[in-house]
Amino acid sequence: MLNGLMMQAPLAIASLIQHAERFHPDVEIVSRRVEGDIHRSTYRQAHRRARQLANALTALGVSRSDRVGTLAWNGYRHFELYFAVSGSGAVLHTLNPRLHADQIAWIVNHAGDKVLCFDLTFLPIVEAIAAHCPGVEHWVAMIDRDRMPKAAQVPLHCYEALIDGHSERFAWPEFDENLASSMCYTSGTTGNPKGVLYSHRSTLLHSYAAALPDALNLSSRDAILPVVPMFHVNAWGLPYVAPMVGAKLVFPGGQLDGKSLYELFEAERVTVSAGVPTVWQGLLAHIESAGLRFSTMNRTVIGGSACPPAMLRLFQEKYGVQVLHAWGMTEMSPLGTVASLKAKHLGQSAEERLPVQYKQGRPIFGVDMKIVGDDGQDLPWDGKAFGDLWVRGPWVVREYFKGEGGDPLQHDAAGTGWFPTGDVATIDADGYMQITDRSKDVIKSGGEWISSIEIENIAVSHPAVAMAACIAIKHPKWDERPLLVVVRKPDAQLSAEEMLRHYEGKLAKWQIPDAVAFVESIPLGATGKMLKARLREQFRDYRLAGT
Ligand code: AMP
Repeated sequence: MLNGLMMQAPLAIASLIQHAERFHPDVEIVSRRVEGDIHRSTYRQAHRRARQLANALTALGVSRSDRVGTLAWNGYRHFELYFAVSGSGAVLHTLNPRLHADQIAWIVNHAGDKVLCFDLTFLPIVEAIAAHCPGVEHWVAMIDRDRMPKAAQVPLHCYEALIDGHSERFAWPEFDENLASSMCYTSGTTGNPKGVLYSHRSTLLHSYAAALPDALNLSSRDAILPVVPMFHVNAWGLPYVAPMVGAKLVFPGGQLDGKSLYELFEAERVTVSAGVPTVWQGLLAHIESAGLRFSTMNRTVIGGSACPPAMLRLFQEKYGVQVLHAWGMTEMSPLGTVASLKAKHLGQSAEERLPVQYKQGRPIFGVDMKIVGDDGQDLPWDGKAFGDLWVRGPWVVREYFKGEGGDPLQHDAAGTGWFPTGDVATIDADGYMQITDRSKDVIKSGGEWISSIEIENIAVSHPAVAMAACIAIKHPKWDERPLLVVVRKPDAQLSAEEMLRHYEGKLAKWQIPDAVAFVESIPLGATGKMLKARLREQFRDYRLAGT
């Protein structure tokens, strides 16, 4: 055996911000912040503050592999935490503030967060969960000193005071590239939320691949505005790719309405953005009604849910913004496929190319995929046969945190482990994948998961309910919304209003079903399992009020 004779240099997240400071020190990081103003920083400043923060975290007792949680918008402080926490060998755990406080507390405890840093917007969540999260030793408010809340019910540190109080001298430690760097919980599976634990290696490899021309095509000439939250799979990796390539970063904070986004796109000369279809609907509605144009934005990444064809056309044909339709998952860091065109499509008319762009796309290098039938056998890549989509690669999950849910992988005849995505898809002869359905029992509304099982469990805890099933109904704004189908107990009285009231306080408001349909029976399979597919078929033409 003859090994190569090249250096062994572990892939490390801190190297991204080091590189950005060395080669792009004055490139800006612009944030709309909770304080209400626009804040301007640079890679040089971000690196300095990340080093100070790393010292501050060490002083708070954070050591290697400890989890540091965040409840925060997209902003420069969150960006600094990305590097300070992972760079010092701890694990950055981004929490989704849109969940109900009880769900957040459960996730904080499951992850074992030791420190929790939060934007002031989320102080009510912190006050609601603190007593239930005994493992959290420090709560850090990400706000200027003079804006610190006077009468918080929880003892707080001020992020800025922590930074000011510490030296900017910090040498990023070297460690194995397989060390855990960050984690994100997904509710896009059945059962409890599950933690996906990324490593320095998986994050760096994903960043290299995401930047490629046929992937997100990012460079130092770009100004990137990630609308996708930094608590959703690390804003699709953009906070890592931007310093890798030296791109300007523009963070929108909590103001995600069309007008606020448009103003930021224009003022900061944004060239590329990324987000779920629901966000783009708000933006398009605003520019359509006000008769505006984009002066610098030339492309946008749309994923998280299928991009509606009309949206793709409007962006491209009327506004000259190229749409990159992408597909991925929390379990995939998240990028899997991008619908970028091949040379063979260039000679085609725009009309002929559109069906290719409507698809979820072809894998970026590093992701392997296949579709299989119920028997686990490979299905042909003919664009017609559809089956379960399986993936593998160096940034695909192997196991959930603490082994939750058991072994998630499926093994093919050759014994190779694949991650079953829970999506059902076709793949055509050119390798473009198109999602046709979902086999996992969850609902995606505005880019956020709703667990149908959780909704059903709450329904059957009502004394008048004999059986309940929750299914997704198509919605023009939110993509999908939950409909609850209920069989009442014999002689029981129960109205839709009463049923929905039963959810109050148990779920986040947006997770509560939009409507209740009462039926005589729900179709059951041989083993007594509810046949959701049959039910979905039965309610295919159901229209929610106001749609
Ligand atoms: P998440 O883990 O929240 O990123 O959700 C991943 C899931 O969202 C995938 O398994 C799909 O079900 C869905 N998804 C993501 N991107 C797309 C897309 N472009 N089209 C359709 N569904 C998508």
